[in-house]
Amino acid sequence: MKFELKNIVRENIAKLKAYSSARDEFEEATADMVFLDANENPFQNGVNRYPDPKQKSVKVLLSELKGIPTSQILLGNGSDEVLDLLFRAFCEPKEDNVVFLPPTYGMYGVLAELNNIETKEVLLTEAFDIRVDETLQVITDKSKIIFLCSPNNPSGNAFSEEKIKAIVEGFNGLVVIDEAYIDFSGQESWLEKLNKYPNLIITQTLSKAFGMAGIRLGICYASEEIIEVLNRIKPPYNVNELTQQKAKERLLKYNEVEKEIETILNQRNLLEVALVEVSYVSKIYPSDANFVLVKVDDATKRYNQLIEKGIVIRNRTTQPLCENTLRLTVGTASENKKLIEALKIIE
Ligand SMILES: *Cc1c(COP(=O)(O)O)cnc(C)c1O
Repeated sequence: MKFELKNIVRENIAKLKAYSSARDEFEEATADMVFLDANENPFQNGVNRYPDPKQKSVKVLLSELKGIPTSQILLGNGSDEVLDLLFRAFCEPKEDNVVFLPPTYGMYGVLAELNNIETKEVLLTEAFDIRVDETLQVITDKSKIIFLCSPNNPSGNAFSEEKIKAIVEGFNGLVVIDEAYIDFSGQESWLEKLNKYPNLIITQTLSKAFGMAGIRLGICYASEEIIEVLNRIKPPYNVNELTQQKAKERLLKYNEVEKEIETILNQRNLLEVALVEVSYVSKIYPSDANFVLVKVDDATKRYNQLIEKGIVIRNRTTQPLCENTLRLTVGTASENKKLIEALKIIE
């Protein structure tokens, strides 16, 4: 069966007309115009006006950087809002289901529960790779979205092009590839394949490599058709003015972002080398991200010992396939040095 978006969109959403804000109804602002249409306070303080609901100037910069037209970009209040919009647009509560592959990002499950959508979970392999056949076998005619997180959190690895392709081509619902960590990966982004696959949705974020977790800006790339649906249901002013300004400043200085990524990758290598020397670390999982997952003798004990030394990492021991693992975010050179010293002292 061929992928058809009209078979995927919820009936009420297909019929919905977007809320039209004052700024939607009159866009062509020129400096000498008088705006008395949105009940704003007229006294200028930098944020007295509503932000651009389409975030045009942010999208133009992203479009230049990523080579994707602005009509195929949707912005949200973090990727978490983007993911929630996907549930609300395409998954009928108490009827449809979504598929994801644990251990992975916790938000897919939380958002499914919040939206009252059944989940089908297919574990990754011991090496945290996709079980393609099992994943495609679990889908039903009510399966709307498969979430692939690549590079995956918390395991750190990116999935091969071949495995992802098998999922994208083998499913006639939507496949979301969460590329939150793609800028740290040796694997290529799936962005350039976007126009080949009408069922493909790629999410990225400014929270990790771009160093802007505090402004909350998530990005969704998809077909114009999918973006049109999401634009209709998003809250009109979901990305605030301060966020748009900060994002633009950073996007204009992408060379700084690149330098930081390079530094973080060098630090990741040093951290991996140092971890080999820690006696109770039995496994260092290969990382395509800005963190490293390690297996230790007793994750909870080591976690608590590090807290006592003033260092907070993430204990992942309760996650499937992650017994006695710790997730270490790569910090600055001096932070990583402190981590390594502490890891050695507590031996
Ligand atoms: C950190 C992270 C995100 C980022 O979410 P934001 O809401 O954009 O901050 C998305 N996906 C995964 C897998 C992550 O680890």
